[in-house]
Order: sequence, then C-alpha cells, then structure tokens
Amino acid sequence: MRKQIVAGNWKMNMTLGAGNDLVNELLSEMPTLNEHKIVVIAPTHVLLTQTASQLESTTFVQLGAQNCHTEANGAYTGEVSAGILKSAGVQYVILGHSERRQYFNETNEQLAIKVDQVLNNGMEVIYCCGEPLEIRDAGTENSYVEAQIKAGLFHLNRERLKNVTIAYEPIWAIGTGRTASSEQAQAMHKHIRNVIAQQFDEDAASNISILYGGSCKPSNAAELFACEDVDGGLIGGAALKADEFLAIIQAMVKS
Ligand code: PEP
Repeated sequence: MRKQIVAGNWKMNMTLGAGNDLVNELLSEMPTLNEHKIVVIAPTHVLLTQTASQLESTTFVQLGAQNCHTEANGAYTGEVSAGILKSAGVQYVILGHSERRQYFNETNEQLAIKVDQVLNNGMEVIYCCGEPLEIRDAGTENSYVEAQIKAGLFHLNRERLKNVTIAYEPIWAIGTGRTASSEQAQAMHKHIRNVIAQQFDEDAASNISILYGGSCKPSNAAELFACEDVDGGLIGGAALKADEFLAIIQAMVKS
C-alpha cells in the first residue's frame, strides 16, 4: 500500500514567530494520521530546528526542506548540504521545484546529484516535475515530464527508488489559481506511473507516491485526491493558512 502525503512548501515565507504559531495551530487540530497518511511541513532552512522541536512528539507529521546543494560540504557560501539538513532533523527534501529550475537554473543533471545526496544521507526525496504552459499548449507534456523523470531518477536502483516521491506540478497551475482538472492530473499521474513501470517494474510503479501540486486548495483537494493515481498534494499558498492546510489534510485522510 503506497503512502498518501500532503506536503506544505512554505517557500520564502514565515518568520520564526509566525512559523512557530502556524505549526502550533496545525498540531492542535491535526487529524489522526498513520504510516500510510503522512503530512510534511517544509519551512525555510532557518526554521528547521525550531520546527523539528515542535514535531518531536508527533510521528506522522514530518519535517521537510526545500532544497540542498550538490556537494557534501565545502566553500559554497550561503548553501546547505544534505548532511546538514539531516543533522537538523529533516526527513524529506523537495528537489527540482519549478522555481528552483527557473530562478536558480537548476538542471536535471544537478538534480540527479542532489537526489543521491539526499538518499545517501538517509532522507526521502520529493522530486518535482511539470511542464510550462507552452509545452501543455503544444501537447508535448508527456514527453517533457518523462525527460525530467528520466534525467533525475533513472540512475537509481529499485531499492533507492523506494525513498522517492514524485510531485507533478504543472507550472501553469502554480500560484496562478488555475488548477489542473482532475482528468488532466490523473492522466499525467498515470503516465508517470507507466514511465516508472517501464524503467523499473510494476511493483515499483504501484508503490511510488505521486503528489499533485498547483493551486490545490480545500475546494478541489477531495476531487484531486480521489483520482486513482493521485496520492496527495504538494501545497504552496494554502499551506500558509492553518484552516486551509488542515482542510486539505482532512481531504487526504478521508480519501
Ligand atoms: C508549489 O509551489 O509547489 C505549489 C503547488 O504552489 P501553489 O499551491 O501555491 O500553487
């Protein structure tokens, strides 16, 4: 049985005080979770140790980070390695978010190295993929997303793939209020699962969790999560408001 996950990507939002309050609010209303229904909170690096302490008494609300460097350590001013994230209590690392690819020129090749760094340090990867609007309009989204997955994940063996979750995030739906329809999300998630089955095997494909991201909110979460191949969501804007994030978590718990 594969895991369902709702992960909140706080991006460059939340001070120490605001983050502290938000996590407290979330924990006070958190529905019952289990090893198959997980919540991940991914604040900025500065908030990681504080959030780790707040999550110490919970098992299924886990700590995420938003990026790491390709190198294990060294003279890379301003950067953070996977090993440092691990030492702060991080369990999941989001890699390849479209904002990282777009604004920081992250390439698939760099991402493959980052994937290795995260796995080598005993954490889980949330590997993001997704097409821009012009690719969707041209009807070539399947091959575009397939290429991102191949380049970032196909060097892994089946065993290491077990610690990878994929997040499909069509760029035209991120922060735009324009959500992919449940049919569009399901079609891409099914395609991604087929791509995994072809490279690895059916077992790997049926066990990998594939999250949807892009303007997921309380009003559409239940419909998206009801899709056969959608195993939860990577949430941006709605993860910053306790009531909205909790409603999305409820939708996952009930699905
Ligand atoms: C994201 O950036 O991962 C995301 C899904 O953002 P939003 O939910 O705000 O569209």
